Amino acid sequence: MTVVREEVERYRNTTEASDALLQVEERDKWSIAGVSSLRDEEVRIRVLHGGRLASTYAMAEMGELAHDSEVTYTPTSPGSASEILDNGLLHHLKETTRAEMDCQVCYGLFLEPLTTACGHTFCRQCVHRVLDHSNICPICRRVLSLPPATNTQQSPSNILLTKLLNGLCPEAMAERAEMAKAEYAGLGELDTPLFICTLGYPSVTTFLHVFEPRYRLMIRRAIESGGRKFGVLLPNPRREPQGDLGPVPFYQYGTLLDIVDMRFLRDGRSYIQTVGVSRFRVLKHGTLDGYAVGKIERVDDISVAQEEALEAAEMSALLRTRNLSAQDHFDAPPHHVSTQDTSREPAAHDVDSMSTQDLFAAGVAFVKKKRHETAAWLSSQVLLAYGEMPEDPVLFPWWFAAVLPLHEELKYKLIESRSVRERLKICVQLLDQVAREEQRYATFFGCLH
Ligand SMILES: [Zn+2]
Ligand SMILES: [Zn+2]
Repeated sequence: MTVVREEVERYRNTTEASDALLQVEERDKWSIAGVSSLRDEEVRIRVLHGGRLASTYAMAEMGELAHDSEVTYTPTSPGSASEILDNGLLHHLKETTRAEMDCQVCYGLFLEPLTTACGHTFCRQCVHRVLDHSNICPICRRVLSLPPATNTQQSPSNILLTKLLNGLCPEAMAERAEMAKAEYAGLGELDTPLFICTLGYPSVTTFLHVFEPRYRLMIRRAIESGGRKFGVLLPNPRREPQGDLGPVPFYQYGTLLDIVDMRFLRDGRSYIQTVGVSRFRVLKHGTLDGYAVGKIERVDDISVAQEEALEAAEMSALLRTRNLSAQDHFDAPPHHVSTQDTSREPAAHDVDSMSTQDLFAAGVAFVKKKRHETAAWLSSQVLLAYGEMPEDPVLFPWWFAAVLPLHEELKYKLIESRSVRERLKICVQLLDQVAREEQRYATFFGCLH
């Protein structure tokens, strides 16, 4: 308001007294409506100069412009320049007030202006970006008392400012909104945000603790863009080469996760609950505001027919080698039985010789056995989080990998695989590994006693 007053003042001083003299007729509403007014037929006629806008402002300033009065403007001389003057002043006012509408974080027009308790206003986005790093107002350094997830319900936008902005500069506002949208779009084809932290599995819940500022921003953008999806990749600390990508800091196959729930902590950290949608391979990657983004390609399994053909081929090949080795055994001289003591180690499954159904059955049997033994990794809390064991062999490996207490890198092969049979084999190999490790622990603690 101060800026507006100053501008009108300056304008009045530069306007010639003869410019656009207007006869302003102000009528009381009641008399117009034909109802006799207590103030009689009140018509005030005044001659003001400077155009309609400046004279209206002058009347308001004098306190003589009633809210419900009807005002008529008549130029005192024909060919008055009042319209030109009005446009000139309006343009001027827009220019000067616009500068006051700039956010001090992004230096753009306020987009969804949010006024903090300290009285400063920023774009909603900008407040979020500030909160990612600290909880202090960037202008006055007072502590910002906004909740970390400042959604529109918890802290609504400044209504007056929003109206002013939309009224004063609708085109610039539309452009500003467009720019913000383009920001989400990121780097063109690198349109998938990537969270390099762990493995995720299709159809299985993954819980993530988001505390790094760059990932807070990434998750918020994923939610605000409406997609609610992002890719999760396993870190590659030893920089093992990843196909065409080379020695990148992540493994190239990952899982697309869909955010289903999130909880913000007071300090800005958040816990998000996601569910795996599909697997993908990273084709290209880049960085956007500190986090990775990529162009991804969906990874799907081979068809059921191909799956069956694969199993049949493996089984028949196995049969042939068995027949051959039986022949060898028959011809060969009797040989020593291995003296190595393997009794302590549980026998590993020969996964290649097992049918897909048997592989699945072995996995299910292992889970049932461990549950019976009340293994910690199958506690009720774990089952509450990941759900009960799926009865579908397609879904089983994902669930199994999620609950199995083994290092993520050992489970990575599952993500790359394009066959259910292949994944069931990996699961059986993994369960053998768990059994061996448990045996070693038991032996170790047995020695201590
Ligand atoms: Zn801003
Ligand atoms: Zn402040």
